[in-house]
Amino acid sequence: MSMATTLPAAARRGAVPEMVDGFGRSIEYLRISVTDKCNLRCVYCMPEEGLPWLRKSEILDYEEIAEIVRVMAGMGLKRLRLTGGEPLVRKDLPRLVAMLSRIPGIENIALSTNAVLLAPVAAALKEAGVDRVNISLDSLRPERADVIARRPGTLARVLAGLDAAQAVGFDPIKINVVLMRGENDDEIADFAELARDRPFHVRFIEVMPTESNLELSASNFLSCDEALEAVRQVGSLEPVPGPPGNGPARYFSFPNARGTIGVITPMSHNFCDRCNRMRLTADGQLRPCLFGTIQTPLRDPLRQGGDIRPLIRHTLRIKPEKHLLVQGSSEGSGGLIALSQTGG
Ligand code: SAM
Ligand code: SF4
Repeated sequence: MSMATTLPAAARRGAVPEMVDGFGRSIEYLRISVTDKCNLRCVYCMPEEGLPWLRKSEILDYEEIAEIVRVMAGMGLKRLRLTGGEPLVRKDLPRLVAMLSRIPGIENIALSTNAVLLAPVAAALKEAGVDRVNISLDSLRPERADVIARRPGTLARVLAGLDAAQAVGFDPIKINVVLMRGENDDEIADFAELARDRPFHVRFIEVMPTESNLELSASNFLSCDEALEAVRQVGSLEPVPGPPGNGPARYFSFPNARGTIGVITPMSHNFCDRCNRMRLTADGQLRPCLFGTIQTPLRDPLRQGGDIRPLIRHTLRIKPEKHLLVQGSSEGSGGLIALSQTGG
């Protein structure tokens, strides 16, 4: 079926309301990658040798990011997430947060981080206007965490970041665990117990294929359905609404638990029909989907003083209906080497 015939009538006439895509989905959430660089090299995300990094002149400065958000907020954007690469490797992130939190219409700012650098800046980020944090943590065993992150001393620093996030009052705190058969699947029960005993929302994520992880994403794939089976060995689970957020997770909880357990299932049960987001890469490409080749460069038109509104409307209009990922194949990922390039 051609794209033209699958679009709703209003979209075919070109009468798409602002921040609603061609399939009638309301897009009020922008994930902003503030840097392509990272202090870790997680095995499922980045190649060990890193990537061809963007030059400083190619990266949006904070004023440019804020200007794009200001324009989109005028069109109906409401919620932001700062991500990367690792957002905390970018200098003075609280300054950007403070700029974004002052933009009329922006109701919520979240941060995705590996938390290695979080402890010393947690209070400043909260003060500047970060409402929520998601922390990536794939193993609770020190040696294994280092192997997965390919950096020594990772776990102790992440746990310090987690404690600092709690101490300064971030709530909810979500912990993202990428599932890998044979790597961390024997820790599913430990993570479930963490969500029972501490006020954390542990979310298991199915690994998605990119150019740099094709073998791992095929041979080590573990579905969230299997992870939930392992969690049920710890105790009986009931579906719960889960913490506030913008994401596609489905949540469960043990009776009287302090936290929840979420599952994010991009591969086994895709949730594209509920997609509410676009992405802005560090070099200013507006991407309507995490995967695929569609992106609109906003940086140069912005630097030339142009009106970027028509470019944003166009990107919304061509947002694909769904991703076409195939596990173990680069088909459908649009040549993406690593999720760090688009913010995950
Ligand atoms: N560095 C930050 C972090 O790790 O939270 C933010 C960027 S990272 C790309 C965002 C999220 O994407 C993390 O939770 C990470 O675990 C997840 N991620 C990265 N590559 C992935 C993949 N191939 N499949 C599934 N999740 C992935
Ligand atoms: Fe870095 Fe996050 Fe990718 Fe790990 S998942 S390599 S922390 S960007």
